[in-house]
Amino acid sequence: MIPIIKPVMDEREVEAARRVILSGWITQGPEVAAFEREFAAFTGAELAVAVSNCTTALHLALLAAGISQGDEVITVSHSYIATANSIRYCGAIPVFVDIEPETFNIDPTLIEAAITPRTRAILCVHQMGMPCDLGRIVELGRRHGLVVIEDAACAIASEILIDGEWEKIGRPRGDVACFSFHPRKIMSTGDGGMLTTSKPEWAAKFRLLRQHGMSVPDTVRHGSPQVIFEDHPVVGYNYRMTDIQAAVGREQLKRLPVIVQARRQRASRYLEQLAAIPGLGLPVQPSYARSNWQSFCVRLPDGCHQRQVMQAMLDEEVSTRRGIMCAHREKAYSGMRHLHSLARSEEAQNRTVILPLYPQMTDTDQDRVVDALARACGR
Ligand SMILES: *Cc1c(COP(=O)(O)O)cnc(C)c1O
Repeated sequence: MIPIIKPVMDEREVEAARRVILSGWITQGPEVAAFEREFAAFTGAELAVAVSNCTTALHLALLAAGISQGDEVITVSHSYIATANSIRYCGAIPVFVDIEPETFNIDPTLIEAAITPRTRAILCVHQMGMPCDLGRIVELGRRHGLVVIEDAACAIASEILIDGEWEKIGRPRGDVACFSFHPRKIMSTGDGGMLTTSKPEWAAKFRLLRQHGMSVPDTVRHGSPQVIFEDHPVVGYNYRMTDIQAAVGREQLKRLPVIVQARRQRASRYLEQLAAIPGLGLPVQPSYARSNWQSFCVRLPDGCHQRQVMQAMLDEEVSTRRGIMCAHREKAYSGMRHLHSLARSEEAQNRTVILPLYPQMTDTDQDRVVDALARACGR
């Protein structure tokens, strides 16, 4: 069976977890702090704060931005549902705008028309690892006094050209970027998330809120020769990452250059080989973007039925996934009004399929995927 993705892990991750388990300190502590420093250095961010997953990272980012009841946040429906849900956690309203069909990212030309007096932020997504047009979005945000939050769940190690220089997603260019270490992403800690920002007061807020709003971190209390009584000035959350996860994450970070290089090589090979399938739409990388190819998504030729193609491939032991979902089509969103056309988002969900892509994939595996897709489309 060819899976959609496979974590790249071996004895090094096992040894890292073992070292922490036997150390006597297993939850958020020195490993989390080291992982944060190393992740910040990797992305070029000034500050990084680790949390339990990317959904909690998005929640804290919105809270730090002061998003609350009745505020509007412009985002895409065409994303994993966690993007829109994080806005609703704050009592705010996600205002969905449509995507560009080729990059599957927010169409920046549609943002301005969606701004109202209640708009407070833009939550843009680097979908499937492909950077969105951040330069333009940040400029729009600044002009209208809006916070810009990057959902970079899939975009670890993706790169973007800004002011004539390539830089990693996460520096950040918006106010804050949020990353995921779920196994479906390109590096994993089982579950896990990270925020990067250049605002020290926001980083301090993330640190406070991730640990129950407790004034003194337990590592400090633990290491103090004096008795310390903590207090809780605000209602916080338990959004901590454990030291076991962070130790695994540090090993994963070391592998990232190799992982990304292999993914890019496989993606180029797909682009070459899949060009032979008539009518198949291939993903487009804009001139300002270098994807990590977290997902490789193709648009099926006219007349091909998505479910039938996926079933035919599954019958040949090739896993695929339907294109990215649309939150507005889910029952959890049925009570909400949507003012802007989401036709391209719906079309992408209906007509696209995500193909297997992982560094351990061999040429033979990849040929099997291409052949199975060609046969399934030829039916
Ligand atoms: C995976 C994903 C999330 C959620 O990440 P978790 O770490 O699973 O919470 C949010 N947004 C996007 C775009 C994602 O792909």
